[in-house]
Order: sequence, then structure tokens, then C-alpha cells
Amino acid sequence: MTDATGPVSPERRRFLTAGAAVVGAAASTQLWLPATARAAEPPLPADVFSLGVASGDPLSDGVVLWTRLAPDPLHGGGMPDRAVSVQWEIAEDERFRKGVRRGVAQARPEYGHSVHVDVRGLHADRAYWYRFKVSGQLSPTGRTRTAPPRTSSGGTLRVALASCQNWQNGYFTPYADMLDQDPDVVLFVGDYIYESTPSATAVRRHEGTGEPYSLTQYRNRYAQYRSDPDLRAMHANAPFVVTFDDHEVDNDFAGEIPQDPDRQPHDAFVARLTAAYQAFYEHMPVRATAVPNGPHIRMYRRLEFGRLARLNVLDTRQYRSDQATTQDGAKNPALTMLGAQQKRWLLDGLHGSPARWNLVASQIMMAETDLLIGAGKQWFYDAWDGYQAERNRFMREFKSVRNPVVLTGDRHLTMISDLKEDYENPASAVVGAEFVGTSISSNGDQDQAAFHREWDPRMPDNPHWKLLDAHRGYHLFDIRRDRIDAQVRVVDTVLRPTAAPSTLARLRVDAGRPGVRVV
Ligand code: FE
Ligand code: CA
Repeated sequence: MTDATGPVSPERRRFLTAGAAVVGAAASTQLWLPATARAAEPPLPADVFSLGVASGDPLSDGVVLWTRLAPDPLHGGGMPDRAVSVQWEIAEDERFRKGVRRGVAQARPEYGHSVHVDVRGLHADRAYWYRFKVSGQLSPTGRTRTAPPRTSSGGTLRVALASCQNWQNGYFTPYADMLDQDPDVVLFVGDYIYESTPSATAVRRHEGTGEPYSLTQYRNRYAQYRSDPDLRAMHANAPFVVTFDDHEVDNDFAGEIPQDPDRQPHDAFVARLTAAYQAFYEHMPVRATAVPNGPHIRMYRRLEFGRLARLNVLDTRQYRSDQATTQDGAKNPALTMLGAQQKRWLLDGLHGSPARWNLVASQIMMAETDLLIGAGKQWFYDAWDGYQAERNRFMREFKSVRNPVVLTGDRHLTMISDLKEDYENPASAVVGAEFVGTSISSNGDQDQAAFHREWDPRMPDNPHWKLLDAHRGYHLFDIRRDRIDAQVRVVDTVLRPTAAPSTLARLRVDAGRPGVRVV
């Protein structure tokens, strides 16, 4: 046993030497503090672990463990207004017989009594089990996994790509299948919550009475989403790497500019951003580098999976210019999607990468979507198409990047494309591949025939598109040194709590050969 919390306090030392003490539900283990050590603290309400457990941002030697104490999750949390010491432990087996680390973390009221434990000193590329304990209550057990060793270049990495889970559009049934597929890591690229008002006609109704603006309102919204049993089970069984898009704050916002500046004055929107980012941090298994500073949060970051894959997680919301409103406006070279600092960081990370595969998690689609059938083009200005100059720069840079693959959300569709050096020239080089990973529930069950009637006629204008589909689901990638085998996993419905999953399509990306093909 090793203590990850630094110098041992007298109380901790007592804990460490009080081997035989057993407490309540933890009777099977000798890890926990004896009851006497906590006797001074009044007991907490029941069900403090109502939001479950999660883990995230795996390293080769560590992972973040998460929980949030919330006995009354839809009404502000229900915790007393004081800091609470929460015990945690992580073990090599699910019965906690081979414990490897443990400690005490503070759940503070100013962070919604969330707990983020950045455990280090673990072994690479293996499963661990973890749990929390406070006031005689034991959390559910979570399972997580560390990343492969820094120097390893072989093996298989199984990644699930998810996005866009609108509570009101359906149950999160794709996660039940994802759990069965047992990914090593889940990449979530935005729209974890939706800020929309409750709808009386929805399959499931949002909590509250309107859009969230305050910290308490955002906390309640996250808590409601975490009550989905399939989402909660997925969090408890694999580490997530999460980033946000617009709906974690406000539809289509750009930096400190809201969707509707006429109705949300700047000061009010800055207060809203501050609340939204803090609630995001409080509910996600992310490192302390993501503790917000007012209306700012550092979300772009890199994760390494040995020398097999480098994952560059982007933030395409906070630093972007306001959206263009015309085709010519989208070509304005002054527009930026990433901001100067993040752009430099991404270029450095792509060109200096030791990895076989250079993955880019982008909230919004990078390949071109030309909506106008026949001569001329019509783009979505919120996507990379609306920031042509910067997107085209990356397409040129990708020519000298080893195996770039972009993993995307936002579109509520499966759109799988070759990335092209120049979308004005269909004969230009293929420089990479992009997977737009449909949605977990957003848009609900779609009429597939109607979708294809609308979208298939656009295929000739977008010859780089390889697959379009409007089922709900997620994408699953088996990443190996020589290739990526991808599956589009879909469900037959999100309108009921259970669904039938299937593989809609299999695709392959071969190392050293840019582009993607259906197999
Ligand atoms: Fe969405
Ligand atoms: Ca066209």
C-alpha cells in the first residue's frame, strides 16, 4: 500500500495503523478509516453517491477518479454547507483485496462537493477498480484503465466516440451497447447536456422551469443527465476523455458572444459562462488544469496512448471568432477557430508527434459540407467550413502529419469523409480521414428514408463523403499499428429505455495511406 496524499497526518497515521477496524458496509476491507476518526462530523443525508462514479483522462501511470456528493441531486445537491473528507481507494481487483493506493480528498461546497482525485503511480495498460467512502456510505465500484506505456508501439487500443446526448430526445441506449463492446477509453466530443427548456411533449422532460443560467441550475441539469442508467454505467466502467461544445453553455456561442446578444447582455453572458464551465468541471473526471478561472477553462489538451496514438483534444468554442453569416464572410482570413495559441499548440503537437496515429478530437466537422446541389456552395458557418482559411491551412499541414484522423460530433449524423487538401479541387490530395460520430440521442429516431431523400442528392457535390447515416449511436475504433478498424454502431431506437444494437457499417483506415474506405 502506498499513500498518494503526501505527508502522513497524525489522523492518517492512526488510520494506517488501525488495521483491524471495520466500518459498516466496508466490512470486507481493512482500508477504511475507523468510525472513531470521523465521529466528530455529523452524519450526512442518505444517498450521497446518487450521481455514481467516473474516471477520466488516463495516463500511462495514472487516472482521474471522480464523484460528487449529492443526496438531493436535482435540487442543488442537498449537502450541508461545509467541506467533507471523502476516502478513496483504488485496487487491482474488484473485491479490493489488492489495494494499491488510497487517500482522503476534500469535497468542498464551492465546487458542489465534487471530488477529483488525480491518482498517480499506477501500472500502465491495466484495469483498476476504485470506490469512495464518506459518513458510513460506500460508493458504487468503478472500473478504469490506464494508458499503454509511453514507449509501446504495438497492441490494440479500443476507442469509443460519442457526442450529443439530448435528454429530451431520447434514452441514452447506445451506451448499453458501448458497455458490451468494452472500450479502453470513451472520447466524448461535446453536447453532454443541452441547455434547452423543459418540453411537455419530449420523451423525457428536462428538469427545472427554463434554460439554466445559474450554477445551481447547471448543476441540476448535469445531475439529471447522470441519472440515465446507461450513461452512469458507462462512466463506472471505462475512463472518459471529455470536451464540451456549445450546448454545455448556450447554442452556437462563440467565445464571450452568446447566440442572441440582444437578449443576453455581455455581463450576464460572462456570468452564465462562469456558471456553465464550473458545473462542467464539477461533473467531469478531468484534472485540476481544468479548474475554471471565471469565464475561462483550459480544455484543450493532449493524451498519449504509447507511441500508437496521440489524442489532441480541441476547444473550438472558447477562442473562436464570431460566426460568419455569408459565403464570402466564411473566407475572411482574419477568422480563427482555435485562436493563435491553440493553433500553434496543435501544429507543434502534430508535427512533433512520435505517434503512429495523430487523432484530433474536434467538436465540429472539419471536412467540407456543401449543402447547395449543383453549381456554387453553401456551408454551415458554425463548423470548420465557416472558418475556411484556418481549416484549409490545417488541410495543407496534414500532408506532412503522420496518419491524421479527426473525430467529431455536433452534426447528429454519421458523416465519414476523406479530408482533402483543397475542397475547390476534387483532384487534390487526400490528407486524412474524418469520422463524425452521429449522436447518442439528439434528434431522436429519424426517418431514414426521408433523411436519404434530403441528403443523398448532395453526394455528387461532396465526393469526399464515404458514408452518411442518421441512426443514433456511436463509433468504435480498434486502433493498431497498421490500421484502424472502425464500426458505426447504431441502435434501433432511443424512444424506449432498451434498444437493439447493430453494426451499420465497417470502415478501415490504413496507416500510410490517407483516407477511409468502407469494407
Ligand atoms: Fe448536439
Ligand atoms: Ca454545390
